[in-house]
Amino acid sequence: MKPPLFEYEAPRTVDEALDLLADAQEGATILAGGQSLLPLLNMRFAGPDLVIDINRVQGLGDITITETTVSTGAIVRLATLENDPAIRSALPVLGTAASYVAHPQIRARTTIGGTLSHADPSAEMPTVAVALGATINLRSQSGSRAVAAEDFFESVFATSKSPDELIVSIDFPIRQGMTFVYDEISRRQGDFPFAGLCLGITLDSGLVTDVRAAGAGVADVPQRLHRLEGALRGNTISETIEDAVEAAGDEVDPPTDIHGTAAFRRSLLRTLVRRALTKLDEEQK
Ligand SMILES: Cc1cc2nc3c(=O)[nH]c(=O)nc-3n(C[C@H](O)[C@H](O)[C@H](O)COP(=O)(O)OP(=O)(O)OC[C@H]3O[C@@H](n4cnc5c(N)ncnc54)[C@H](O)[C@@H]3O)c2cc1C
Repeated sequence: MKPPLFEYEAPRTVDEALDLLADAQEGATILAGGQSLLPLLNMRFAGPDLVIDINRVQGLGDITITETTVSTGAIVRLATLENDPAIRSALPVLGTAASYVAHPQIRARTTIGGTLSHADPSAEMPTVAVALGATINLRSQSGSRAVAAEDFFESVFATSKSPDELIVSIDFPIRQGMTFVYDEISRRQGDFPFAGLCLGITLDSGLVTDVRAAGAGVADVPQRLHRLEGALRGNTISETIEDAVEAAGDEVDPPTDIHGTAAFRRSLLRTLVRRALTKLDEEQK
């Protein structure tokens, strides 16, 4: 199918993009990788008056790595997160999770800002952003704000971003000493997962001193798994695997849809938790 008619602008600076967004008064949409937006336009689920292509905006492709943070501009591609040696070395879970998204051709276009804005609750990168405690940096004509990933996602395909706001960058903290795993279960390689898990653990003398976890596909947002974290904190992994598995399953209320029932997704999350903890336990021995 063909998209509806729309105006097209390709600004070169963030300020130009923000002016266009403000002038359009909710009639504009941002084009980043286009991998979600173009199907929506072609199927006429979206009908903006103006499409603002941000692919040529200066600075949005920048990457800065310090001892504490990997900061990426909004249009950094998932293929870059997957393949850039400096990112892989500083925060390997970003590349691991990115490698599960779709196929190489799609990852070569998909942007980190696009997948966070699209806010599919089964998507890999929003889940990693919540588990890591990432900060999403937004700008509009009226100013800037930084939103914790956990507060950014509000519901299925819905975020706290206003129509006149642009995601300009994302700060992913490097949690020194914390080992993260990302794993998921999908029907075929490259499909959205039925369920996914990002889990990070810090160990000191065999005890879990810090833990962060989030699940994909198990709620209407990428869900932080606080009960799972509580079950592990202060204990050895091997003593608490089964408690953690139970806690994770109990705290989610997954959707039932054409892809699977709530019980199916809950059981897959439990499998992922057991798998991840077994791996982390073996690695520390
Ligand atoms: C065949 C196929 C398989 C896929 N499989 C997966 C998968 O397994 N896992 C997965 O997570 N995704 C998957 N996707 C979705 C893909 O990753 C999308 O590209 C992604 O959801 C959106 O990123 P994008 O850069 O393409 O954004 P676009 O499609 O350009 O934009 C998506 C939305 O975000 C808004 N937006 C984009 N950037 C910004 C910004 N900087 N500030 C404000 N708003 C912005 C746009 O206006 C639009 O509403 C798949 C897509 C296809 C076509």
